[in-house]
Amino acid sequence: MAGTKDKLMRFLSSVLPKVSDEAHEGQQPGWNSDSSDQFIRDVEEGIKAAPMSIRLTPHILSIIDWRHPVEDPIRCQFIPLATTIVPDHAAVSLDSLHETDDSPLDGLVHRYPDKVLFLATSICPVYCRFCTRSYSVGGPTESVTKASMRPTLRRWNAMFDYIAQTPAVQDVVVSGGDSYYLAPDHVRLVGERLLDMPNIKRIRFATKGLAVNPARILDSKDGWAEAFIDVSNKGRSVGKQVAMHTHFNHPKEINWVTELAARHLFERGVIVRNQTVLLKGVNDDIETMSKLIRLLADLNIQPYYVYQADMVRGTEDLRTPLSTILELERNIRGTIAGFMTPSFVVDLPGGGGKRLSNSFETYNSITGISTWKAPGVTGDKIFEYHDPLPRVA
Ligand code: SF4
Repeated sequence: MAGTKDKLMRFLSSVLPKVSDEAHEGQQPGWNSDSSDQFIRDVEEGIKAAPMSIRLTPHILSIIDWRHPVEDPIRCQFIPLATTIVPDHAAVSLDSLHETDDSPLDGLVHRYPDKVLFLATSICPVYCRFCTRSYSVGGPTESVTKASMRPTLRRWNAMFDYIAQTPAVQDVVVSGGDSYYLAPDHVRLVGERLLDMPNIKRIRFATKGLAVNPARILDSKDGWAEAFIDVSNKGRSVGKQVAMHTHFNHPKEINWVTELAARHLFERGVIVRNQTVLLKGVNDDIETMSKLIRLLADLNIQPYYVYQADMVRGTEDLRTPLSTILELERNIRGTIAGFMTPSFVVDLPGGGGKRLSNSFETYNSITGISTWKAPGVTGDKIFEYHDPLPRVA
């Protein structure tokens, strides 16, 4: 962690503008010779307070506009700034979806009757500030100790046994962490073990890899994509669906390398779906979200979900009120083919699962409290989502 932080600081020193607005056209207004040093201190203090550790890829570093690092929608997602931290709402937590309560084994979440979440690892190619799984993903930080999910065969075997012995389970999401961090042989092992189980009909591998390191998909010396494609083909040959679920949040994350990588997967018959998280200052306006959805559709990546940001500790500056997702859905639906229109959803805090954002029982936009039920999952139990507290100007 210290090594990553030091590398980031050296990178920032080299890339941030050193001179005034007048000297560099297009530079952030008001940026002066002290601003870069202030920004670096801001990052250092932000990292100390953040629940997620820092990990970034060259792709991510290359698409941040370092002339405007404060507002940049990519920087906002991965690099915390102390000056933008907003005090947490009393209802937020590290495990807002209560996944650990629904885990019969370490790293196996069984909430819906027919689906399990197979947390293969707790490592990712990048660490997102707003991660739902802040309780386990990434290394420990100065403020949080993590319940790490190590990628050990012993742990996986216990999870395989549970799945094989639970005939109601038909769907498996292999996640973490990120399956991009599984060795190619392990992608094959997990995929094949699950495909061999008669009860398993569908597998989804969750990975942000296509969004944050697309070059790896195209690298013929790197075996990950080949392993994934083999598992996808094996699934097809036995009548089972294997899909990749990826995670783009902003149109800037898509460049020519992404296009080639997505094309590579499409030509090989890989089903790719996207899950976006709605984030303040990143994609909370109609124009940006519409553009993202269209770009994904053009890459044959199905825009599957747009999630209301979970009530996770340390991310209040990134959460939006429920009214924002309702407004986005109202305006975007009908502007693009229905099968390419994502479902706008809230993953209910406390473990009710995903609900369409407009299916709340009550919503008081003054108090910011919405209430929900998930009859198919938890009967009459009431769940509450709390909007972030209004900002004091
Ligand atoms: S890639 Fe996914 S699991 Fe990893 S930090 Fe980001 S949101 Fe969390």
